[in-house]
Amino acid sequence: MQILHPFAGSVQQYIEQLDNPDSYRPGHCPQCQAKHPLTAHGFYTRTLIDTAFDGVIRVRRYLCQTCQRTVSLLPEFVLPYLRSSLAVIALFLITCLLMTQTLSNATRTAPPPMPYQRGQFWIRRFRAQAESLCAALAALTKPVPAPDFVHRAVTMLQSTGWVAAHRFLFAGVRCHLGWPRGLAPDGRRAALSTAAAPA
Ligand SMILES: [Zn+2]
Repeated sequence: MQILHPFAGSVQQYIEQLDNPDSYRPGHCPQCQAKHPLTAHGFYTRTLIDTAFDGVIRVRRYLCQTCQRTVSLLPEFVLPYLRSSLAVIALFLITCLLMTQTLSNATRTAPPPMPYQRGQFWIRRFRAQAESLCAALAALTKPVPAPDFVHRAVTMLQSTGWVAAHRFLFAGVRCHLGWPRGLAPDGRRAALSTAAAPA
């Protein structure tokens, strides 16, 4: 199971805190509700492209001794299955959709520059989900007048913050590839624990 790790710092700060398993150790199991802090259980790795980072990050896993299932803490700045960070995707979508740069121009000048096809994939996905995204975001912020759903969705995301809307973004991609149960697509908040580390 994957749960969202509400990490607000930079990628570098995320990497630095990883060596201490107590920093964000879940205080209980989100799968069986056992009330024991989970045991550190290694990492898995994944690639990440951020505005100033292109490499591999580790994602910490914990084990519940009661049900013997693992929980991994996915930092909020990444999206499941997508290599680029949320910040990179957000900047690109804003450039293309709000600042109306052409797709080829935006892919060339984006931080970091990217293949045209990748930008095209994000734009298509975003357009396809813009209407349902507006409906989902209405739970977080007031709908704004806009010429279409795409503009309305981007403007609403700017007001809620893209990380706050993490669970709604690219929901179609996630469903297509297999949604991790911990990142519920139906608007239920992902289970989080900010409980203190065990003594
Ligand atoms: Zn458990």
